Amino acid sequence: MAGVLRAGPAAAGGAEETLMEATFDDRDGFIWFDGQLVPWRDARVHVLTHAMHYASAVFEGQRAYDGEVFALQQHSERLVRSAELLGFSIPYSVEAINAACRETLSANGMRDAYLRPIAWRGSEQMGVAAQRSKIHLAIACWEWGAYFGEEALLKGLRLDIASWRRPAPYTAPTASKAAGLYMICTLSKHRAADRGFDDALMLDWRGQVAEATGANIFFIRNGEIHTPTPDCFLDGITRKTVIALARTRGVNVIERAIWPEELESFEQCFLTGSAAEVTPVGSIGPWSFEVGALTRQLMQDYAAHVRGNRARG
Ligand code: PMP
Repeated sequence: MAGVLRAGPAAAGGAEETLMEATFDDRDGFIWFDGQLVPWRDARVHVLTHAMHYASAVFEGQRAYDGEVFALQQHSERLVRSAELLGFSIPYSVEAINAACRETLSANGMRDAYLRPIAWRGSEQMGVAAQRSKIHLAIACWEWGAYFGEEALLKGLRLDIASWRRPAPYTAPTASKAAGLYMICTLSKHRAADRGFDDALMLDWRGQVAEATGANIFFIRNGEIHTPTPDCFLDGITRKTVIALARTRGVNVIERAIWPEELESFEQCFLTGSAAEVTPVGSIGPWSFEVGALTRQLMQDYAAHVRGNRARG
């Protein structure tokens, strides 16, 4: 399909829709690449890139609202930390990464967009060792509507239960937003789609409820919120934001181990993530949830907060 359909940054709709309509290497616009803006189609890497063979890449996903990247400082700090957890250091300061993100957004003339910074080991060395590899950084952005599509925001997602489990922290650098950790997410997402679901709930290596394939998970019961302790998966920036928003409303938020046996006792469920924002869940496997008042309130609170962020600086 490459080059057949016009794939300008204006491509709208949910993730799947965007992917069908547009290839990501054939667009107008600019990508920030190792310190300069390059035409979108020229942002290429060699096939003998360490990151491609050995997953030595870390990335971020963040959204701009009304021209300002929400929680930019936290995202850039996490990018730097993710790289450190993989044993490499990004040759730009957090401030320089912040500035590069803003530059990318404005060079593409966008105000509401998703930004994807990525850092990776280059092609100086082949084999598992990579001490001499150059570290690269690139930042792209594109317009991206509701991650799961508009309908999910009203009806709630249908989640499958993944057969892959989040690894233990002693088997992988689970606090890093590392490319390699997404291998089992893609497998789980594809299996869910093949079985007619929107996404999948992943359990962790102990069998506890962990998260979805690209978002954290929350449950509501008797007016209280329960969410798994992020001890082997990403402690999302949206997760932390939504916990703070709920507490501001006086809602009790309990972070703890949650076992799948409990799923049937919850009344509401939702996902959080920079791309997913706050998306309600209608069912997980055989268990159903309502898109209830508290979930809808938090969806609204989050939407107001990310845009209000600008006024508060
Ligand atoms: N878990 C996974 C696996 C993710 O990909 C994401 C999205 N970055 C999250 C959780 C949520 O993180 P955040 O709220 O920081 O985007």
